[in-house]
Amino acid sequence: MLSRRSLLFSTLASTIFFKKKLLLSHESSSKPYDKEFNRTDEDILIIVDVQNDFCPGGSLAVKDGDKIIKEINIIQEKFKYIVLTQDWHPEDHTSFSSTNPEKKVFEIKDMPYGKQVIWPPHCIIGTKGAEFHKDLNIEKANFIIRKGFRKNIDSYSGFYENDKVTSTGLDGILKSLQIKRVFVVGLALDFCVQYTAIDSAKLGYKTFVIKNATKPVDIGSSVKDTLNNFKKHKVNFGNLDGFI
Ligand SMILES: [Zn+2]
Repeated sequence: MLSRRSLLFSTLASTIFFKKKLLLSHESSSKPYDKEFNRTDEDILIIVDVQNDFCPGGSLAVKDGDKIIKEINIIQEKFKYIVLTQDWHPEDHTSFSSTNPEKKVFEIKDMPYGKQVIWPPHCIIGTKGAEFHKDLNIEKANFIIRKGFRKNIDSYSGFYENDKVTSTGLDGILKSLQIKRVFVVGLALDFCVQYTAIDSAKLGYKTFVIKNATKPVDIGSSVKDTLNNFKKHKVNFGNLDGFI
């Protein structure tokens, strides 16, 4: 009798153990976020170059560049993942007018990687101009990607430097987080925002540029060209409400 009870107990125990094991193996083999995926789990917000030199009073100021910061801070509340990009140049950077005395600001020069616009010196490593604007909430950001720190190459995109080969590492971060959709805001629409958004779309992320949270430098046809490029590369351009 004792041995039958003991056998029964042992059978029950092993059944429970087996069921538990099955449950555990089921839990560990399923993708935990399959059903719970919501907008913030697969989305990332990239805040491009909201730095002092790109805002009024800075050396490469975008008109009303500081006016979008309030909106960017509101938008940040809707995201779980946030990346800040930060233009970060040595003082003798190849794009600077000070390094190219024969050229005027906004003229073009040829570089091994293509055409390069000449810019006034800006966002020099360690200076006030390179710091994020004081009104930008930088506490929610998970990552900061610095770009343009190699003397002989500029970097507009948050993903690749202007040779379109040298990676900043951002794509690796997004892939490891299983990001599907990228939302881009910041400065300036027709340069770093455009290049970041187009690289994002080319890398296969569904990409959105939030219209009321970006401003252009606006040189020649740069804004018109940017909007045409967005259409060509299937980058969505509109206000955030329209994307939800
Ligand atoms: Zn720059």
